[in-house]
Amino acid sequence: MSIFTHVQQHDHEQVVFCSDKPSGLKAIIAIHNTNLGPALGGTRMWMYATDEEALTDVLRLSRGMTYKASVAGLNLGGGKAVIIGDPNKQKTEAMFRAFGRFVEGLAGRYITAEDVGTAVRDMEYVRMETKYVTGIDLALGGSGDPSPVTAYGVYMGMKACMKELTGSDSLTNKKVAVQGAGNVGQFVCEHLTKEGARVFVSDIFPDKAKRVAAEVKAEVVAPEKIYEVDADIFCPCALGAIVNDDTIPKFKFKIIAGGANNQLADEQKHGRMLIERGILYAPDYAINAGGLINVYNELEGYSQERALQQASGIYDTILNIFSISKNENIPTYEASNRLAEQRIASISRMKSIYAGKSQFVGRLGENDFGKR
Ligand code: NAD
Repeated sequence: MSIFTHVQQHDHEQVVFCSDKPSGLKAIIAIHNTNLGPALGGTRMWMYATDEEALTDVLRLSRGMTYKASVAGLNLGGGKAVIIGDPNKQKTEAMFRAFGRFVEGLAGRYITAEDVGTAVRDMEYVRMETKYVTGIDLALGGSGDPSPVTAYGVYMGMKACMKELTGSDSLTNKKVAVQGAGNVGQFVCEHLTKEGARVFVSDIFPDKAKRVAAEVKAEVVAPEKIYEVDADIFCPCALGAIVNDDTIPKFKFKIIAGGANNQLADEQKHGRMLIERGILYAPDYAINAGGLINVYNELEGYSQERALQQASGIYDTILNIFSISKNENIPTYEASNRLAEQRIASISRMKSIYAGKSQFVGRLGENDFGKR
C-alpha cells in the first residue's frame, strides 16, 4: 500500500517522518484530526520489525486518540508518535532532544506525552526543546502519575454501568474481579472496598496482588482464574485483548468496566458476543479517559481536584453511550464512536459558521476603514 493510501484511509491530516542521523532518531508523528484542538497523544518507543509496522501503529493509535478526546469532551484532537528502537538499549538524551525539536517544529499542532517505552525522564529531555509536552513530573509543574485520575474515572464509569443495569449505582456488596494490581488496578480496588464492594484481585506477580489485597482487604485470585470468578463486574486493568473467544464463554459477569486499553480482541465480533451473553460493556477508551483528562489539565496549570472533577463526568458519558446504544440498537463501542464523531462534526460545523461570520465582519471593517 502506498504511503498516501495508508494516510488517506482514515483521513489523517498530517504525518511527519523524523530522522536525525547524529542521535539515531527515527520517528513518525501522526496527526489524525485537529478539529477540536491540538492533537495530543503519547510517544511510543518500540522495536518495530519494519517501518510499515511503525506507520500502521502510529496511524491506528493517533486515530484512537481523536475518539478518546472527543468522547471525554476535551478540546483536543488526536495524535501520536512512535520512535523506532529498543527502549531498553537505544535511549539517549540527544535522541529525545532531537525528537523535541521536531515536535517544536509543529508549533503546537501536536503535543506529546509518555507512552509504552517512554518515561517522565525522556519527556524532560523533550521539554528542553519544546513546551508542547505533557506528563511532566509534579515537582516540575506537571501532572505526575495519571493513574489516580484514571482509576477514579473507571470507578465512576463502573457505577454508571450498575445504574444502567439495576437502577441504582451503588456498588455496596457487589462483587468485582479486578485483573492487574498495578497503578490503575490498585486505586480502583481502593475506591471499591471503600464503598463496601467485595473485591477479587489477580496479578501475574503474586506479591503485587497480595500487597494490594492486604491493603484494601480484597481476595487474591490466580491470574488464569480471574475470568471464572462468580462476580457481578469484571474490571480489566492489565493487558488488552482479554475479551476474546476463549474468555467470553467463562464469564459469569454482567458488566465489563475497566481501565485497560483495547479490551476486545475483535471489536465487531466480541462486541456482538457480549450482547448475546447479556453482558454490558463500557467502551475502554471512554471509561479510561481519566489519564487523558489528567494531562489535559496540565495544559491549563495542573490541579488534581479539577482533573478528578472532570473525570467524574465519565459517569454521564457512559450513560449517554448506553442510551445511544439502546436507541440505535448498536453495540456500545459503536455508540461511543458515534458520540465522538457527532461531537467532532458539530464543533467543526460551529467553527466553520463562526469563521465565515468573522471573515465577513473582518471584510466589513476593512471597507469601513477604507471609506474613512
Ligand atoms: P501497570 O503496568 O502499572 O499495571 C498492570 C498490572 O497488570 C501489572 O501489575 C502487571 O503485572 C499486571 N498484569 C499483566 N498481565 C497480567 C495478567 N495476564 N493477569 C493479571 N495481571 C497482569 O499499568 P497501569 O498503568 O496500571 O495500566 C493498566 C492498563 O490501563 C494498561 O492497559 C494501560 O494501557 C491502561 N491505561 C492506563 C492509564 C493510566 O493512567 N495508567 C490510563 C489509560 C489506560
